[in-house]
Amino acid sequence: PPRIHRLDESVVNRIAAGEVIQRPVSAVKELVENSLDASSTSISVLVKDGGLKLIQVSDDGHGIRYEDLPILCERHTTSKLSKYEDLQSIKSMGFRGEALASMTYVGHVTVTTITRGQLHGYRVSYRDGVMENEPKACAAVKGTQIVIENLFYNMIARRKTLQNSADDYTKIVDLLSRFAIHHIDVSFSCRKHGAARADVHSVATPSRLNAIRSVYGLLVAQNLIKIEASDNDPSSSVFEMDGFISNSNYVAKKTTMVLFINDRLVECTALKRALEVVYVATLPKASKPFIYMSITLPPEHVDVNVHPTKREVSLLNQEVIVEKMQSVVESVLRNSNESRTFQEQ
Ligand code: ADP
Ligand code: MG
Repeated sequence: PPRIHRLDESVVNRIAAGEVIQRPVSAVKELVENSLDASSTSISVLVKDGGLKLIQVSDDGHGIRYEDLPILCERHTTSKLSKYEDLQSIKSMGFRGEALASMTYVGHVTVTTITRGQLHGYRVSYRDGVMENEPKACAAVKGTQIVIENLFYNMIARRKTLQNSADDYTKIVDLLSRFAIHHIDVSFSCRKHGAARADVHSVATPSRLNAIRSVYGLLVAQNLIKIEASDNDPSSSVFEMDGFISNSNYVAKKTTMVLFINDRLVECTALKRALEVVYVATLPKASKPFIYMSITLPPEHVDVNVHPTKREVSLLNQEVIVEKMQSVVESVLRNSNESRTFQEQ
């Protein structure tokens, strides 16, 4: 039999990193989530060459302590989790302490940060989990700026497939749009390097509908119906839900489903399919809906640690919850359809 040996740590780390950072948009998601976790009120993203040349995320959050910079990009270093049990009630987006580390294994990372009350900030670059040099004092505005250059420079196959596919910039704009309509107290911007204007530009507003209008446009915003539901029956399901769904006038080529569960941007194919089925049955001409839905569950009912990119979560009583959402959407659509036919008559 072939001999079994231990892989080099650097090989292990690069393999793991390729899983956390699958494409440029995954790096942007991790960085923006870090900015949100740092209580930022303004987050801007700059992208060059679909993110392969440059991704820059700047925020006005609480910054990073000077003393923490040496271990910032080591694997499994985090300020958000201490013991396993904390996962049960975790509120932050991050907890695995892997994102920044992963980026340093597949790209060149430079961090500029300043904490409150300091006269100057620090800038330092990282490779393969470690600092390349001592942090240098520098001028800085409030918060943190993280720059990733040459993503996947050491993963030739990945770089090639990404260069051949349509670039990730559209995916990044889509991601920022989703964040912008959920975190309406934060202003977001997303710009392509060299472009004069931003492709996402939201300002903090108390109105969700305003946010949707400014990000997705008037055509979407004027065709939305507000939805709300909740349940508090521990034997079947406990949740609160609110959102907006498109009406019979909204016609699109594909469904847009923006789903947040406990403030995490996630995907839930079962729920998306279930709601599409309702649309096909009730509004066949408007069967590709726009849906924004925010569901809040008791934290102990949500397992957030099922996917390295945290793209999915698993829910207690998922089937019951999906069915309830389905019936809420169905009754709202039926009512709106009936009142419309009535008006027309
Ligand atoms: P995680 O988010 O899972 O903790 P990361 O690798 O994404 O792991 O980040 C490591 C740590 O670096 C975070 O726990 C946080 O303390 C700090 N950090 C990262 N980005 C920022 C930021 N934009 N502002 C302030 N602190 C940050
Ligand atoms: Mg993180």
